[in-house]
Amino acid sequence: MKREDVLRKGPYPLLIDGKEVPSLSGKTFTSIDPSTGRALAEVHEAGPEDVDLAVGAACKAFESAWRSTLPRERSKKLMKLADLLAARVEALSWIECYDAGKPIAASRAWLSGGPGTLEYYAGCLLGLSGETLDVSDKTLMDFTLREPLGVCGLIVPWNFPLSIALLKMAPALAAGNCVVIKPSEVTPLSTVELGALVAEAGFPPGVINIVNGPGDPVGSALVRDPRVAKISFTGGTESGKRIFREAADTVKRLTLELGGKSASLVFADADLDKAVAVAYTDIVRNSGQVCGACTRLLLEESVADAFLDKLEAKLRAVKIGPPEDPATEMGPLVSSAQAAKVRKYLQIGKAEGATPKAYVDLAGRSDTASDAFLPPMLFHGATNAMRVAREEIFGPVLTVMRFRTEAEAVAIANDTRYGLAACVFTRDATRAMRMVRAISAGTVCVNTGVRSSVDAPFGGFRESGIGKERGKEALLDDTQLKNVRYGL
Ligand code: NDP
Repeated sequence: MKREDVLRKGPYPLLIDGKEVPSLSGKTFTSIDPSTGRALAEVHEAGPEDVDLAVGAACKAFESAWRSTLPRERSKKLMKLADLLAARVEALSWIECYDAGKPIAASRAWLSGGPGTLEYYAGCLLGLSGETLDVSDKTLMDFTLREPLGVCGLIVPWNFPLSIALLKMAPALAAGNCVVIKPSEVTPLSTVELGALVAEAGFPPGVINIVNGPGDPVGSALVRDPRVAKISFTGGTESGKRIFREAADTVKRLTLELGGKSASLVFADADLDKAVAVAYTDIVRNSGQVCGACTRLLLEESVADAFLDKLEAKLRAVKIGPPEDPATEMGPLVSSAQAAKVRKYLQIGKAEGATPKAYVDLAGRSDTASDAFLPPMLFHGATNAMRVAREEIFGPVLTVMRFRTEAEAVAIANDTRYGLAACVFTRDATRAMRMVRAISAGTVCVNTGVRSSVDAPFGGFRESGIGKERGKEALLDDTQLKNVRYGL
């Protein structure tokens, strides 16, 4: 689909109290197509005064309607929204193709999972309940109630805009909360289109609100608002820390899904082709802008050269091109600014003594002329002490290191402030289980890449975050437990 077929003509609005509205200030910002560097759409920019209205509408909807809906009513509305979304997946995939630079084939694949997120929580919520407790005092009946929190602020990054918005919104609504969503200002368009479906799905006005604009002041206003009970944030660790500090003033609940510097451990007895395919995907998928990507590649010395020969051959053949081309595997990064950040790390790595090597020459190509395009790259000769092995680069770059013993591999894998995920490749099942225990990360994958599905919990240890997204855990995290002690 062409840009003009899927994009709105006028500025993209906010969604407040069931209505698409301009910002009170009338201010707009421009969303950029990273594959061309040109303006894609104008978007109304909220200010703290719009956030105030959105939170007010969410509070009103919570008290007057949503908190007392029957579980099956909430379930039906989520299912209806899933159906409406399914009918829009193709158009939304094109919108994210242009707004985020996602190759269209990959964009379709990701967004086709969106309706399933809503369906999963529509089913899950029907099993949500408290329990009766057999307490030691027999003059009491004691039981628990699972209650919604109230209004949840959902702060979404740019790497999987609508998918992550849905992963936050579905459990929050399922649990009986109302939401205010703040998409990334870099990629707001698909979330605004989701907002256009919520009235038809039967959600009362104010249950779902959307405020576009920058992290500071729009996201920050949500975090500081005392009426907001919880913030669910996905993004960089530094922003996450700031939100953690600001949320402390009103003792908010938090789910923080932050950065990673995950390790992939490839042992000599591994199925090398499988391990190579996963490393390749970690660089190419979404141009490496994936929090769970294993960006530290740890290779057992005796197979390291053979592994790299295979990986390098695949990287030389990757199809980089305009995201709207169905054959494109790797498009631009989300923005010139993100690509500039990655380029800076190439200099940092070189200065530290590592050698960055690119596998596709983009020089002189007119179809990848925007400075948001980067080739796939490996850092050779790195050590785990270097910044390129310690900091999240968030681009198509893996840092390669070698190890001789299992103990050395585990020590390197765990020597990080992060703890989001890890991969282990070995045919020795006993060693695999030893690794599962030894590696300190929220998700450990054996002989497969890090892929999260809606029905399994995902979330990091240490500075990779707090709490879990996905799975039943996300639903429980969006509730509070009340204990009732009833005297007989
Ligand atoms: P941020 O972490 O800054 O942004 C994520 C979201 O949080 C956006 O909606 C952003 O708004 C918002 N935000 C930023 N600051 C605040 C704040 N103080 N209060 C409330 N909301 C806030 O990501 P960046 O785009 O700046 O990327 C920086 C780095 O973060 C990347 O290079 C990458 O390393 C990492 N990152 C990690 C992600 C992950 O999934 N783990 C996802 C995205 C980035 P807005 O963008 O509109 O200003």
